[in-house]
Amino acid sequence: MIVGIDLGTTNSLIAIWENGAARLVPNSLGEVLTPSCVSVDGDGSILVGRAASERLQTHPHASAASFKRLMGSDKTLHLGQRAFRPEELSALVLRSLKEDAEAALGQPVREAVITVPAYFSDAQRKATRTAGELAGLKVDRLLNEPTAAALAYGIHLRGDETRFLVFDLGGGTFDVSVLDLFENVMEVRASAGDNQLGGEDFVTTLVERFFEIARVPDRLRGDAHFMQRLRARVEAGKRMLSTSPCVTIRVDDGALDYTMELDQADFEQHCALLLARLRSPVERALRDARLPIAELDNIVLAGGATRMPAVRRMAARMFGRFPACEINPDEVVALGAAVQAGLKMHDAALDEVVMTDVAPYSLGVDTTIHLDGDNYSHGHFDPIIERNTVIPVSRVKRYYPLQDKQTGVDLNIFQGEARMAEDNIRLGQLKIALPSAPRDDNGVDVRFTYDVNGLLQVEATLVRTGEVFSLVIEGNPGLLTEEEIRECFAALSALKIHPREHLENRTLLARGERLYQQLRGVAREQMGAQILQFESALETQERRIIAPAAAHFRDVLDYFEHQNFLLPDDD
Ligand code: AMP
Repeated sequence: MIVGIDLGTTNSLIAIWENGAARLVPNSLGEVLTPSCVSVDGDGSILVGRAASERLQTHPHASAASFKRLMGSDKTLHLGQRAFRPEELSALVLRSLKEDAEAALGQPVREAVITVPAYFSDAQRKATRTAGELAGLKVDRLLNEPTAAALAYGIHLRGDETRFLVFDLGGGTFDVSVLDLFENVMEVRASAGDNQLGGEDFVTTLVERFFEIARVPDRLRGDAHFMQRLRARVEAGKRMLSTSPCVTIRVDDGALDYTMELDQADFEQHCALLLARLRSPVERALRDARLPIAELDNIVLAGGATRMPAVRRMAARMFGRFPACEINPDEVVALGAAVQAGLKMHDAALDEVVMTDVAPYSLGVDTTIHLDGDNYSHGHFDPIIERNTVIPVSRVKRYYPLQDKQTGVDLNIFQGEARMAEDNIRLGQLKIALPSAPRDDNGVDVRFTYDVNGLLQVEATLVRTGEVFSLVIEGNPGLLTEEEIRECFAALSALKIHPREHLENRTLLARGERLYQQLRGVAREQMGAQILQFESALETQERRIIAPAAAHFRDVLDYFEHQNFLLPDDD
């Protein structure tokens, strides 16, 4: 069984292709969204998902979220005593999803299609693949998120010729793709994006505004508990504003209350710069696809952050019409990944659909331009594969050394669109030793091969001798070696994972602890008593006592959540 996984910045989902349709698989709490959060519990065991996201507020130093943004970097996150790399944390999320699917399907899950933002770099893609391996999954394919969203819609729309644009704003990234679906061939014509723009940035901006408007003292910026609580309140407020005209965000520091009112107009004003940044990737994708806006048949929304009315209004203004959102934007990417899994398994219902994708950015080398006489201009970026070329693709270009009898060249590999190489992302270096020869007779053929997963291979062949050099990405601190992967795998396998069957009750307790911290006075005391009561029920280890106690505790939590939490102003 191959599964489809949307490994999101905020939430992750797993879906399968079954009986000719894509279906989401719920986790042990019965929910299809699993927060991409990891926390180390008091007894050292690992919690993933909802329980971990509750603990982000109560135990910020033992919990982590948004690590997708660090994929491909060498940053580590400290959870209690232990340091984790971003791919290890992602692996824990993947493992939890895999176990949920195994429990639901009653069979082992070993292979997966995992989605990545189209704009993920080579290192970020490799780190995602490594995360899959660390979770015990063979990663069949890394699929671009907007392509996945389009696949989910493509299956839905099947038959007609359709040109559509996928507008995918997730927690951490913004991706735009222009697709053409004709006689069951789905072709990505262009994609563009901003991998530093997502729903989380709106929260960051609103938190900043909160400090100003609610006159929060600056010293509280250093208080991790306060900051986590404030972020959570702002996040909840932002979401509530998607369905309410106005909200009040309130947070206290134990002594004083701070509040900020927020309506749609305030939101648009505070976030104007972020909203404006949505425009340029859309324009670039349409320009590259050589398609005027008027010729688009449909605009598809994907990613949880497209629920924000301000984002929808911005999209409607840009396109002159309201976008399609028949499929839940949180779920569309995972469903598309399951369609791709179905294609991989050669499901009869899908056999005819052919899918093509493109390279979302240009890939090339740095070169020196000979101006005249002894004058040279160094460090120019020379693309070998141009952005939005259909993949898989292999392109070759011939380069010559600058001097006669030059003994070697160091070829630097970059990705990006800037004219000067140093303004792009450096992927690695290829050192080539040259035979002694006149420069014009000492050419090097540089071949770039970009596969369907968006991974790059570089090979240089000496024209004179046929000798071949391959790119080894040396000393890239963002990538693990085979040896390190094996070590990490062993270390992760040795971790104590919180038992799946107890996760639901553990999540209720984590929620109770979070509410306890948020409440004050009598309400806080009542919450403390309720937690104790539920803990005593758990200690009995008797199902007939625990089940009703859990149901009661959940009602209590829901009640306090409503009492305490921010409410729409008109409520
Ligand atoms: P994704 O990475 O697709 O899971 O998107 C997660 C992002 O969507 C987060 O930044 C969430 O805050 C945001 N999001 C989810 N639901 C809503 C909502 N109802 N209103 C506004 N933003 C939302």
